[in-house]
Amino acid sequence: MDDCVHVAVNIRPLITPELMAGCSDCITATPSEPQVQIGTHSFTYDYVYGCSAKPFSNIYKECVDPLVNAFFQGFNATVLAYGQTGSGKTYTMGTNYTGQNDSTGIIPQVMDSIFKKKETMKDTADFLIRVSFIEIFKEEVFDLLDTKPVIPARVPIQIRETGSGGVSLAGVTEPEVCSKEEMASFLARGSASRATASTNMNSQSSRSHAIFTITMEQKRNSGAAKGDICNDILCSKLHLVDLAGSERAKRTGADGLRLKEGIHINRGLLSLGNVISALGDEKKRKEGGHVPYRDSKLTRLLQDSLGGNSKTIMIACVSPADTNAEETINTLKYANRAR
Ligand code: ADP
Ligand code: MG
Repeated sequence: MDDCVHVAVNIRPLITPELMAGCSDCITATPSEPQVQIGTHSFTYDYVYGCSAKPFSNIYKECVDPLVNAFFQGFNATVLAYGQTGSGKTYTMGTNYTGQNDSTGIIPQVMDSIFKKKETMKDTADFLIRVSFIEIFKEEVFDLLDTKPVIPARVPIQIRETGSGGVSLAGVTEPEVCSKEEMASFLARGSASRATASTNMNSQSSRSHAIFTITMEQKRNSGAAKGDICNDILCSKLHLVDLAGSERAKRTGADGLRLKEGIHINRGLLSLGNVISALGDEKKRKEGGHVPYRDSKLTRLLQDSLGGNSKTIMIACVSPADTNAEETINTLKYANRAR
């Protein structure tokens, strides 16, 4: 099949708190195959990084750069980081990049690549690049770049369906950006205003899905000479998604309120799993089978950028620690279903 969804697993190293708690590694990767083993389970994916598999530094080139190329050809594309809190989603995506700090994550490399490609194409096309940064929290969409005062509370924004099967967000802040530095400044601003609520698993735990979207309009100069000016503008979107923690609500030991957040978050992750699995099901697709995009805000928002002509990579992030084995198996199963 043409594989519109690829799945990668990223195994981070044991981190200091895990080493200090005496945790041991419970996951192994087959060196030359994209395969992982945990306990008696064995799973195969499109790519595996970390551990004894390929190094993390290969992720951008192998998994994401092809999507950036497709984005320049006018395709929509989505990069999703999935996994329990503390598994390395934010590290992998580079969502905390400010322009100065560590740039090993995916988003800084995407920015770099976009402005480099744009530069090499500047004689053949004009570009208009915009960004937006939103989060979905308890099934409501919030604009992370909105600078209006949030009194008495943040106002959620609405998802609109555009005529051509696309989706847009009513009134979302969508500044034009001309450089990598400018783009990074909006990423940093949005990351700072992202809502978090502490749980006893991780005080930085993010209970929301964060979606950084880059949209591009290209006007090819060469096309004008041929006289086909009307069809000359190519529009595409690239979504970079740091999903909410996939851990089960019961494990956070949270109060009633936090639990409700957990339930809503699971709705997004649940329907994302269903959508991706329906897209991967070749028989269903051929029969024009139903893809349940409408079941959550997350999948509604991504519906014109998942499946169809668009390109998607899901990166399942896991901790190797034996104390996380149960959640790691859940993540590996979810990712296996997506493939
Ligand atoms: P999440 O966003 O899934 O909650 P984080 O990205 O915050 O997880 O990662 C949790 C911790 O693990 C952080 O201290 C981070 O620096 C570290 N970490 C994650 N991935 C790696 C990696 N590939 N190499 C080294 N450290 C990592
Ligand atoms: Mg995070």
